[in-house]
Amino acid sequence: MKKVKFFLKTAHAIFKSVSFDVAIGIIATHALVLFFGYYPEEITTYLFGILMALLPDIDTLYMFRRDKFYADHRSWPHYPLLMFLIVVSAVSLWSYFYFGYISYFHLLLASSCLFWHYLHDSWDNAENEEGIQWGAPFFSYNRYVISIRPLEEKNKSWFVLTRAFMRRVTDKTIRRVKENRETAIEFWEKHYMKETLEAYQGVIILVIAILFVWIV
Ligand SMILES: [Zn+2]
Repeated sequence: MKKVKFFLKTAHAIFKSVSFDVAIGIIATHALVLFFGYYPEEITTYLFGILMALLPDIDTLYMFRRDKFYADHRSWPHYPLLMFLIVVSAVSLWSYFYFGYISYFHLLLASSCLFWHYLHDSWDNAENEEGIQWGAPFFSYNRYVISIRPLEEKNKSWFVLTRAFMRRVTDKTIRRVKENRETAIEFWEKHYMKETLEAYQGVIILVIAILFVWIV
């Protein structure tokens, strides 16, 4: 009984933690469906968008293979450049054989869902402020966060226009994240196994996404 209760509690926390990305997948799909006039509005199209918005988090599956399940997951599925290359090629090939043409609709949908996922993970208070390795594995393995807070390291950002928003994650932060490595359960307990408004942010956006599809 205790096990069932724990499983339900964890499943509920996972639902809260993925609902933001699911919502982004739904909103992006519906916006592009409206824009392209792509009918019929098939459920599979929405599932495709949701899958793309969640895709980078397949690296969480690695942590379930370890004896201790760590919460941080920033391996290659979180390298945006690499993933764009893989996904654009895969979607082009798949759509060419499935529809008989390269579907720009699906390419644009996959790219925008991925892009939003990486933006969300780069936001400075996302998870552990550890950011994303935007240039990996081609240019650099530096981590970057996007922030609207005053920046200490702004001169080290990529280029002039992004200096106000993009900041390289300092070695100090990376050390702190590594030293206080959280397990998945600790992470969910801290952020999602509580009934606060903050824990339900993603769920609220998911409700808005469903209303958006329903009404607009
Ligand atoms: Zn992610």
